[in-house]
Amino acid sequence: MSKQETPATVEVRPKRECDVCFGFDDAPRHVVALTGEDVIKITEEQMETFRSNVDLNTSEGARALSSLIDRTTQYRHMDCCASVGCPDGSCYRVRAGVEHLRNDELVAHLTKGA
Ligand SMILES: [Zn+2]
Ligand SMILES: [Zn+2]
Repeated sequence: MSKQETPATVEVRPKRECDVCFGFDDAPRHVVALTGEDVIKITEEQMETFRSNVDLNTSEGARALSSLIDRTTQYRHMDCCASVGCPDGSCYRVRAGVEHLRNDELVAHLTKGA
């Protein structure tokens, strides 16, 4: 059998907000739960940044907005999470040696198996 490039199964990941840079895309996230004093309030300016990144008329956009307002569950790009201090260190471990990878490249790296 000739080795043909079969397209990898494309897993559609929902677009999400990032609670650090307020971007909106489908790059891998670390979901971080915050409680009590660790909860970081969102500023007007940050909300404005988010609004300019997102079409709030889409269901994804609307969901991301309500999720953004809930500050106790944060979706963070793994590189953003690492930059602000990853609570469990997983973003440092996952990205060790592959700090340049983002989005699909990082997903491919994470899912290629041990
Ligand atoms: Zn981010
Ligand atoms: Zn993290």
